[in-house]
Amino acid sequence: MLYKRSSELFVEANKVIPGGVNSPVRAFKAVGGTPIFIKEAKGPYLFDEDGNKYIDYINSWGPMILGHAYEPVVNAVIDRAKKGTSFGTPTALETQIAELAVAMVPNIDKIRFVSSGTEACMSAIRLARGFTKKEKIIKFSGCYHGHSDSFLIAAGSGAITFGIPNSPGVTSGTAKDTLLAKFNDIENVKALFESNKNEIAALIIEPVAGNMGCVPPQNEFLSQLRQVCTENNCLLVFDEVMTGFRLAKGGAQELYNVKADIVCYGKVIGGGLPVGAFAAREEIMNYLSPLGPVYQAGTLSGNPLAMAAGYEMLKALNTDAAIFDRLDEKTAYLEKGIRSVLSAKNIIYTINRVGSMISVHFDEGAVCDFETAKNGDNDTFKKFFHGLLKRGVYIAPSAYETWFITDALTYEDLDYTIKAIDEVADEL
Ligand SMILES: *Cc1c(COP(=O)(O)O)cnc(C)c1O
Repeated sequence: MLYKRSSELFVEANKVIPGGVNSPVRAFKAVGGTPIFIKEAKGPYLFDEDGNKYIDYINSWGPMILGHAYEPVVNAVIDRAKKGTSFGTPTALETQIAELAVAMVPNIDKIRFVSSGTEACMSAIRLARGFTKKEKIIKFSGCYHGHSDSFLIAAGSGAITFGIPNSPGVTSGTAKDTLLAKFNDIENVKALFESNKNEIAALIIEPVAGNMGCVPPQNEFLSQLRQVCTENNCLLVFDEVMTGFRLAKGGAQELYNVKADIVCYGKVIGGGLPVGAFAAREEIMNYLSPLGPVYQAGTLSGNPLAMAAGYEMLKALNTDAAIFDRLDEKTAYLEKGIRSVLSAKNIIYTINRVGSMISVHFDEGAVCDFETAKNGDNDTFKKFFHGLLKRGVYIAPSAYETWFITDALTYEDLDYTIKAIDEVADEL
């Protein structure tokens, strides 16, 4: 494949955009090479500026669960655009999508729409702090909740011991209010509650972690967290930006039958437009301005184009309940295929999967937290990534990302992908 035009565009982009990208994960820094500039997409396929075609396993990092340029969404956006793109007033459409979301998800009474997953998580934490009148939060190493200050605290002994922010620009004052816990380690969480008695406003978690590869919660981990939070008057916040409307209609809350106090959404809920949302039971949501004292706002929140896209997406997922089964079957088929070709070639690997979230790790032990996720062999991943790209299969350019399966994929696409992996395995 030739990437001539992409390479030229990347040079131009670098002159006016830092690193040539508006979000770092799009750069190929972890795998080397030049990012591919996409011109258009349809169904499960991407087409780049050089005319190359790819089967897409990123799907805009989650939103395109029914494939690219999904017609009901595209048509709804076109229709709405003709009627005006933003008013800064309430619209009927906002109530329509809110009613639908509340009906699809267990355990929420009210929902507020924002413009990104970052905003949703940031606002959820402010709300939790206002509601509980406490300041500290617990987050898990390897979990991502957007780029707001409180969450940019990751693993590393320095960060754990001293609360040192892992991004310059985050003040140590902010960092000290974020406590880091180990995913899948309930004793570690209990110890944090013990040493910070009556100080923890919220515990935020990706119920299925998707930002260190896909890392499922083990055994009763989520229900144990539920219990510890209740005992400590701490709000349990599920960051379902990735899992919401993907693992089931009601997301991870439904799949694992655990009720969170506040739930954050993004990605699928916007159908590919910039949307996030956070939701909770009435008592908590009424704490938000203009009813309550916790301030939160947005000029483009509930934007008509974004709401039209989100509404069509949720409607499709709500109408055809078989979508989630189909996604699971397709992803299970892919998993089985990858296992058989990698095992046949004696490659050391681990595959994690929950529904249509799947990740391949080049490491033989279980991948159950950030420490084990980091053990993967990055050189092997790089070869794997480029080998697949060359064959027209586009996975995320990082070993720490989940693949997102779309319902638009056909079994032919999956067979092609498995065959490509079989060929690439010879080069690893
Ligand atoms: C993507 C993501 C976010 C951030 O959402 P943005 O829309 O990128 O701001 C937050 N939490 C999780 C779990 C995510 O996957």
